[in-house]
Amino acid sequence: MENLLGVFNTVSEAIDAGYAAQKEFVTNFTLEQREQIIGAMRNVALENAEKIGVMTREETNLGRVEDKIAKNQLAAMKTSGTEELKTRAFSSNLGLTIEERGPYGLIGAITPVTNAGPTIINNGIAMIASGNAVVFNVHPSAKKVSAFLVDILNRAIVEAGGPQNLITMVKEPTLDTVQEIAKSPKTKLLVGTGGPGLVKALLQSGKKAIGAGAGNPPVIVDETANIEVAGATLVQAASFDNNLLCIGEKEIFVLDSVADELIEAMKANGAYYLNEEEVQKITDLVLTVDEEEAAKPCTFGMKCEYHTNKKWVGQNASDMLAAIGVEGQDDIRLLIFDADFRNPFVQLEQMMPVTPIVRCSSFEEAIELAVEAEHGNTHSAAIWSNNTGRVTKFGKVINTTIFVQNGATLAGIGYGGTGSFTATIAGPTGEGITSPTSFTRIRRFANSNGGNRIV
Ligand code: NAD
Repeated sequence: MENLLGVFNTVSEAIDAGYAAQKEFVTNFTLEQREQIIGAMRNVALENAEKIGVMTREETNLGRVEDKIAKNQLAAMKTSGTEELKTRAFSSNLGLTIEERGPYGLIGAITPVTNAGPTIINNGIAMIASGNAVVFNVHPSAKKVSAFLVDILNRAIVEAGGPQNLITMVKEPTLDTVQEIAKSPKTKLLVGTGGPGLVKALLQSGKKAIGAGAGNPPVIVDETANIEVAGATLVQAASFDNNLLCIGEKEIFVLDSVADELIEAMKANGAYYLNEEEVQKITDLVLTVDEEEAAKPCTFGMKCEYHTNKKWVGQNASDMLAAIGVEGQDDIRLLIFDADFRNPFVQLEQMMPVTPIVRCSSFEEAIELAVEAEHGNTHSAAIWSNNTGRVTKFGKVINTTIFVQNGATLAGIGYGGTGSFTATIAGPTGEGITSPTSFTRIRRFANSNGGNRIV
C-alpha cells in the first residue's frame, strides 16, 4: 500500500493532512471549481466501478459482484452536488441579510463493510460538494479496497486542479483510531454509517454526530396489489447484493387472501420455498443462539437469543441450500418460508437472502406487526397496494425515512426510482436522507443600515 494518495500510516497524519487540505480548499477554490472536482470524482468512480466491485467482493467475501458494481455506479452518478446548496435572502429597508450553507471543516466519517465502496464515493462527493474535507475510518475488513478508492479519488481531485488530501484515511483502521478521530479538535463533525454500536459510540463523543444505523425494513402486500409484479420484484430486491443493504426488504407481511399467490409468484421468479424441516436446518446453519442472552428479558418482542452467524451474512441462497443438502439449485436467489411473527428472521436484521413471510388476517394486523418488526429504527419500509388510504395510513404510522409504494426499497435511493442517492440514512440522529446540505452549517451575512435593497 505504498504511495497511495490520502492513505497514512497514523491517524494523526490523516487528520492533519485533511485539515490542511480543507483550509486551502475553502479559502482558494470557487463553487464552480468544487463542481469540476466533484465531476472528476464521479468519472473516476464510474470508470473503476467494476474494479471496486470485484475488489470489494474479494476482500469482504460478502454479497454479489454485479450488484456491488451497480451500487458504485449509482453512488457516482446520483449523489447530489453543489446545486443543492441554496442561499436564502431576506431584505427590508434596514438592509439585506443572506444565509449560506458553509462547511464544518474536517469531517470524520466511519464506513460499513456491507457498503464499503458506495459509502466512500457518496460521502466523499457530498462532503466535498459542501466545502469539507473528510478523514475516513473505514471498516477494517474493507481497508484495501477503501485505500484503493481513496487513492484514485485523490488523484482525480488533484488532476482537476484541487488540493491533495481532501479525502484521507489511516492505513490500519481500528476502534482506537475511531476514538482518535472523534476526540481530535480538528474534526468538527462525525458521520457514522453502521450498526448500533457505532452510532452509540459516536453519540457519546460529545461532538456533533450524524448517525446512520441499522434497519429491519418490513413490506406489506395486500389484495389490491399486482401480485405477479410484487412477487418478481421482491425476489430481486430482497436478494440484491444478498440482502446486505440496510434498506433491503427483510420480512413480508401479506394478507391471507393473496399469500399463496404471492409465494407462487416468488417461486416462479427465483425463490425457493423452504418446508418446515428445511427452515429448521437453515436456522441452525445461519443463526447462532447465545445462551447468556437467552436468559435476559427480550425487548421489542425480539427473540434476542438469536444472532446472525457472520459466516453466512451476505452469502448466496444456493450455497445455503447446498449446505443443508439441497443440491442443484444454482439459479435460486432467495429463500422464503411461512413464518410466525416471533420467528428470529422476522425480528433480526439478518442481511442474508432469507425472507420470512407472515400471513395476516387483516390490514390492521399487518400494520401492527410491521411497525413492531421495524423496532423503531425509523429506517425503511414498503407497501404493495393500490389502496391510497391504506398506503397513506401505513406511511404515517411506520414513520420511516424511506417509504416506497409498489416498488423495491432501492427506489428510495434512486435505483429504479426518482431522486438522488445516499449511502447514509440517518435514522437515530434524525437527519434522514443525507446529502451535501446535511454536512453544512447555516451562516448568515447581514448588511445593516439600509442599502442593497432596490425595490
Ligand atoms: P458495524 O457497526 O459492525 O461497523 C460499521 C463501522 O463502525 C465499521 O467501520 C466499524 O469498524 C465501526 N464500529 C463498529 N463498532 C464500533 C464501536 N463500538 N466504536 C467505534 N466504531 C465502531 O456494521 P457493518 O457490519 O460494517 O455494517 C452493517 C450495519 O450497518 C447494518 O446494521 C446496516 O443496517 C448498517 N448500515 C446502515 C446504513 C444507513 O444508511 N443507515 C447504511 C449501510 C449500513
